[in-house]
Amino acid sequence: MPAQLIDGIALSQKLRGEIAARAAALSAKGKQPGLAVILVGEDPASQVYVRNKVKACGDVGFHSVLEKYEADLAEADLLARIDALNNDPAIHGILVQMPLPKHINPHKVIEAISTSKDVDGYSVLSAGELMTGLAGFRPCTPYGCMKLIESTGVDLRGKHAVVIGRSNTVGKPMALLLLQANATVTICHSATPDLGLHTRQADVVVAAVGRRNTLTADMVKPGAIVIDVGMNRDDAGKLCGDVDFANVKEVAAHITPVPGGVGPMTITMLLMNTVEAAERI
Ligand code: NAP
Repeated sequence: MPAQLIDGIALSQKLRGEIAARAAALSAKGKQPGLAVILVGEDPASQVYVRNKVKACGDVGFHSVLEKYEADLAEADLLARIDALNNDPAIHGILVQMPLPKHINPHKVIEAISTSKDVDGYSVLSAGELMTGLAGFRPCTPYGCMKLIESTGVDLRGKHAVVIGRSNTVGKPMALLLLQANATVTICHSATPDLGLHTRQADVVVAAVGRRNTLTADMVKPGAIVIDVGMNRDDAGKLCGDVDFANVKEVAAHITPVPGGVGPMTITMLLMNTVEAAERI
């Protein structure tokens, strides 16, 4: 029997409804959630991402500001803007769109954002909070993956989860979230000699690589949950993930499509972190 699709669009809509209700309750008390989005330079993909984020804010009743700067903005000027936003009571979350121009140190910029407004969850402190199990902001993509897994109704306790990829923004936080949910976790990466040896034992596989067909049907245990984070293009230029979807869906029990799986959840979890930031202050 083919796998059940995990519908990221439907889950996003449901969660955005809940976020809008929380935002309305805060606004009624005079504390409308606010997100500041900063874009430096003219990168076309980044322009689309920030536009989508700002639009999503409007849809759930948030206040948002989009600050666009020329690519030659001085690092010190960007840090000064972040400092001002850290002290702006109308702003509860600050997001600096990556990548930044080469003359700006992204680590310095991320660390300049107040931890209470770090809704991307990228700072060293937020990473430390996740590592030690303290309440804090979870990076949006892995946080969204956890919601997608939760939506299957499968309890992760005692399950074997394999994460393919170990980036600071996806793979590593993903593994920590799965660990927190009591899964036994294996992390694979480019130096893993036999990827299939690990994925074939997995009840849950999260693929976050950036290379299509990394996970094929012969590498998947029947009945597994497969979450595809990858965003790639096939030969026809169509968006596809890291998973050989057409064949893996015949083996897995639950699978996310690309598009329509993890993608829509990332912005939703940014909204979730922002409403939470507003509730905490
Ligand atoms: P990244 O920083 O490039 O990390 C990729 C990871 O994959 C690395 O850890 C790398 O290992 C590992 N890898 C590369 N080739 C491999 C192989 N043959 N076997 C096993 N592991 C391999 O990428 P990322 O930022 O984590 O993103 C991963 C993918 O998710 C990309 O396609 C990205 O576009 C997508 N993404 C989607 C969303 C969304 O909202 N849908 C959000 C974020 C990212 P090493 O560490 O050893 O190099």
